[in-house]
Amino acid sequence: MNTSRHPIQCLIPDYVLVEIAKQGDAEEREAALNTLAVSTTLRSARSQAEAARMAAGPAVVATQGLREPAVDRIIRDAKNTRDTGAPIVRKEGDPPVGDAAVDEAYDHFGHTWTFLFEVLARNSIDNAGMTLDGVVHYGKNVDNAFWDGDQMLFGDGSGTWFTRMTKSLTVAAHELGHGVIQCDGPLVYQGESGALNEHLADVFGVMVHQWLLGQTAEDADWLVGAEILAEGVQGRALRSMKDPGTAYDDPKLGKDRQPAHMKDLVITLEDNRGVHINSGIPNRAFYETAIALGGFSWERAGRIHYATLGHPQLRPNSDFRRFARLNHRVATQMYGANSTEADAVAHGWNAVGVEL
Ligand SMILES: [Zn+2]
Repeated sequence: MNTSRHPIQCLIPDYVLVEIAKQGDAEEREAALNTLAVSTTLRSARSQAEAARMAAGPAVVATQGLREPAVDRIIRDAKNTRDTGAPIVRKEGDPPVGDAAVDEAYDHFGHTWTFLFEVLARNSIDNAGMTLDGVVHYGKNVDNAFWDGDQMLFGDGSGTWFTRMTKSLTVAAHELGHGVIQCDGPLVYQGESGALNEHLADVFGVMVHQWLLGQTAEDADWLVGAEILAEGVQGRALRSMKDPGTAYDDPKLGKDRQPAHMKDLVITLEDNRGVHINSGIPNRAFYETAIALGGFSWERAGRIHYATLGHPQLRPNSDFRRFARLNHRVATQMYGANSTEADAVAHGWNAVGVEL
């Protein structure tokens, strides 16, 4: 089965975990290998779930569009198991339960839902009121967060390299972003189309964060996962959209490998051919566009990107250039041929060496 078409989408790439396994002591190696094993198991479970869904056919979605647009959240506590059907510990409207991971996930889901609804006029992940289903305390010391096609799973982190994943709104919004991307523009999770998938999830992540804080493009830090690095790790975040390649440089974690320009595009078989690596290039392009436009990233740059994601001509195997050209065409259609917006999009891609 082709696992790249319906993969599990994770926040922390395998190559970082492999680095930890190589550099760490016996205990650290075990923790890193444990997290790697979790993503491998999830990947195969995901493939099986996809196969079952395809076999069952598209019978059950008909009534979802009739729901009133309102956020609907459920948070499950896996209690350090890998049970994605664990009991629900907080559902929509319930007061805080006092468990930080539960309450953080609930709040981040709420902010992300409201962003999608108020800014993009979208009713949840599938635009049909889908329940946001999160699993916290997923596995034991798991240094990762995942979108498994139906749910968001959050590990507690080992405490050595990463802390609990729910600490970060950008992480939660990134994972929910994968859900939106899956529904609108199923970009194959491999090579440049996979890097675009990661890129768009990062765009959702930072935009929700900036929107909640009321930050302009100029004022924002453009970091993804600033809150999840464990104490003592040398770095600011997991990724920087403003300065790809500079987010961390740590003896055990290794160095941030993201390029910021096409001339540094990384050719590798690792990480589904660099989906978490080369996403630095479109990330930087988006940052450049947002800065050129000024103001709030979600108002123009974000809307153009969102419309590009939902565009019928976005191909599942789109590469950077194809996406960039469509992105520019969408800006032209939305704002006019020689508009500031279309020029800013062209400038963004030009700045990272993607020719339109
Ligand atoms: Zn991701």
